[in-house]
Amino acid sequence: MKLVTFEYHAARKLGMVNPDHKIVDITAIVGSSDMNVLIAGYSRYEQDIKRISQEPRAAALAINDVRLLAPIPATRRNIFCVGKNYYAHAQEFGNSGYDSSAAAGNVPKFPIIFTKPATAICGPGDGIDSSLDPFDTIDYEAELAVVLGAKGRVTDADDPMSFVFGYTLVNDVTSRHLQKIHSQWVLGKGLDGFCPMGPVLVTADEFGAPGLRTITCEVNGELRQKASLADLIFDIPTLIKTIGAGITLLPGDVIATGTPAGVGLGFNPPRYLQKGDVVKVAMDGVGDLVNSVY
Ligand code: MG
Repeated sequence: MKLVTFEYHAARKLGMVNPDHKIVDITAIVGSSDMNVLIAGYSRYEQDIKRISQEPRAAALAINDVRLLAPIPATRRNIFCVGKNYYAHAQEFGNSGYDSSAAAGNVPKFPIIFTKPATAICGPGDGIDSSLDPFDTIDYEAELAVVLGAKGRVTDADDPMSFVFGYTLVNDVTSRHLQKIHSQWVLGKGLDGFCPMGPVLVTADEFGAPGLRTITCEVNGELRQKASLADLIFDIPTLIKTIGAGITLLPGDVIATGTPAGVGLGFNPPRYLQKGDVVKVAMDGVGDLVNSVY
């Protein structure tokens, strides 16, 4: 199932994308327009959502007639993120000289975990504000994001994948200069609107095995990033287990799994985003997440 948060006639709503690629309003079933509520109580709503989606007379809205928001416009806490989680990207990052703690080609021995604040989230089509990086070093990072559906810590007896609710895409937009001068990555990656998310949240049963998927990023139509999720240094179960070993995971938590090679920083000289640039993060079955820089 593909779930969305959208705005229609100035009201926020929850929806599901039906087989005709139209949006069926499911807000009344959930009794809330908050995706966190839907995720936490999904087992209670699932059958009703499936039933309404199959009703031929169910009113459905054309996607062009609504404004899609991020599937989770406000996560309940920070988004978990993973740094340097593709081999070739770890290499380009080390080679760039930007990370003084990393030797060239350095591959982390353990997952690097940081967070982006929920206020960084924006939706498909929203603009990225270049004035927030006065150093003109805004970079893109196409990433698959895992959305969790279960509460608890992850023990050795657990299948970490049983915590997965679904998947979406994020662009881990970054001010490289702020990332560098402040050492910790939160400031360079946590600026308002620096976490485009969407366009849909695909449930785990529909998404299938993550390892078979390819993620891409285009800037103004030019392919910059393309990688298989099979190239992740630390796979999704390892990431969930690492974070959940000592931190209680919550329904609606998001883990951005890291970005492949091809970021602007990896070029010599770097090719950072400029005003007017259009960035598209894409994956089959999830769709296109398109945002412009202003
Ligand atoms: Mg990233």
